This record gives sequence, C-alpha cells and structure tokens, in this order.
Amino acid sequence: MTCATSRTLLLSQGYEPIKVISWQRAITLLTLGKVEVVEEYDTDIRAVSLIIKIPAVVRLLRGFRRHAKPVKFSRVNIYARDGYKCQYCGVRCSVAELTYDHVVPRARGGKTTWENIVTCCYPCNGAKGSRTPTEAGLRLRVAPARPTWVPSVTIRVSTRSVPDAWRDYLYWTGEIEHDDLEG
Ligand SMILES: [Zn+2]
Repeated sequence: MTCATSRTLLLSQGYEPIKVISWQRAITLLTLGKVEVVEEYDTDIRAVSLIIKIPAVVRLLRGFRRHAKPVKFSRVNIYARDGYKCQYCGVRCSVAELTYDHVVPRARGGKTTWENIVTCCYPCNGAKGSRTPTEAGLRLRVAPARPTWVPSVTIRVSTRSVPDAWRDYLYWTGEIEHDDLEG
C-alpha cells in the first residue's frame, strides 16, 4: 500500500474538510455508522467476510459545528452553497459531474469570487461558453452570494502528496500548504 492511499480525508456533514485520518480510523468510523464513504481508492482491504475499497474521503453523518469563521472560498463550499445543483438548469449532480462557472466571464473582467462563481453542470457550462447568461439564453436560479452558514477549517496538506480523490474537497490554489498534516 502506498503512502497516498493510507490516509483518508474526513469531511463534515456539509462536505467541508475537517482533517486527515488514517484509513483504519475511517473504517472504524464507518463500522460505527458515523461516516459514509464519498470517494474510495482502488486498493482493496480484506476483512473476514468482505472486501472493500479503502475510503479516500468520508463524510460525517451528524453535524459538526465550529463557530464564527468566514466561509472559505473553495470549490466544495461553492457546491455546498448551491446544493450541488447546476445554477442554470437546476439539476442536482455528483461532484464528478459538476464544475463552476464565472457568471461574468473572466475575459470580461469577471472575478473569481462568491458573487461571480456558481455551480454548473458541464452541458450548461459548455453551452454558456465565454458569454454572459443573458447572451447565452440562460437564467441564474439564485444570485450568488457569500454564504454565512458553512463552518470553515483550513486543512494543510503537502501539495506533493494530495491524493487525486481529495482534490474536489480541498480548497483552491493557495489554500493547500506544505508538509503539515492533522490540523
Ligand atoms: Zn446545467
């Protein structure tokens, strides 16, 4: 087993990264019914009566609260704010089927901010291209805004060793820092 698949990313109920745990701990939480598996590695674990994949990302099934920190601007927090729904067609998608869209295109000076980024499915993203919603004949369901309800913790992990399965759940560039696990 490689080092990269021996660690599991623990998410809150709201898909916010909380900390990095060992896969053994993840299995314990799973057998206790405290988490569900969100992503898994290709590596099998053989137990007495079953073979399962090593969990890469697990999510707490009960609430986890921390107070009074601003919500981190991250891909997963954008998806959480938007309920994992494309903000143009309204379809709820898995993380793998979602991307994000600059409402005002970057080429027109649109910023990468809470107020200008929305969750988007790939078909709508392709249809919109680098046009405004009006030009593309699309309508936003809700005007994007900075959320106040997602508790926030920065996870620091080595950029060299972040498993691919974690990437959608970690913060955008600049928030993943060096060599420091278990925040
Ligand atoms: Zn869509």
